[in-house]
Amino acid sequence: MAILEIRTLGDPILKSRAAEVTTFDAELARLVDDMLETMRAAPGVGLAAPQVGRLIRMFVWDDAEDHGAMVNPKITWFSEETEEAEEGCLSVPGFYFPVARSVSVKVRARRPDGTHVDVTAEGFRARVFQHEIDHLDGILFIDRLAPDLRKEAMRNLRDHDFGMSPPPSKPAKTL
Ligand code: ZN
Repeated sequence: MAILEIRTLGDPILKSRAAEVTTFDAELARLVDDMLETMRAAPGVGLAAPQVGRLIRMFVWDDAEDHGAMVNPKITWFSEETEEAEEGCLSVPGFYFPVARSVSVKVRARRPDGTHVDVTAEGFRARVFQHEIDHLDGILFIDRLAPDLRKEAMRNLRDHDFGMSPPPSKPAKTL
């Protein structure tokens, strides 16, 4: 396994639409393992292939209760009910903004071995799935903010080199 480089805001790959996966082989399985390791080391709870420079429709996730990889995921149903909560992204390090998401979604996808799967996700997991599937369409969580908040977020990001030099979020403990 290997730790992969995580692309950050400003990298054009994060704004690109990823391609469907057509080959379910050992190389794909290895990428899943590497992405899980990279995500856990970061640490994060979700990571999409474009974030590690691979423009394919796949993401990995681990929310402590369960983990896995979704290939060619498609949201087939969004709940009308939405919820706003703080969200962050490994490609926008150090920044957290409130994003409204559906509280539950149904997702049709394939596993890395090619088998089909239909899952219903709720709460935090539904949020993770929506965030990661957005990545596959070149959409970042800051693109989901209300216009005023997005303007403020972009100003904040610009002041910090677009996430290349994150703000000192929490002061270090002095002894
Ligand atoms: Zn993200």
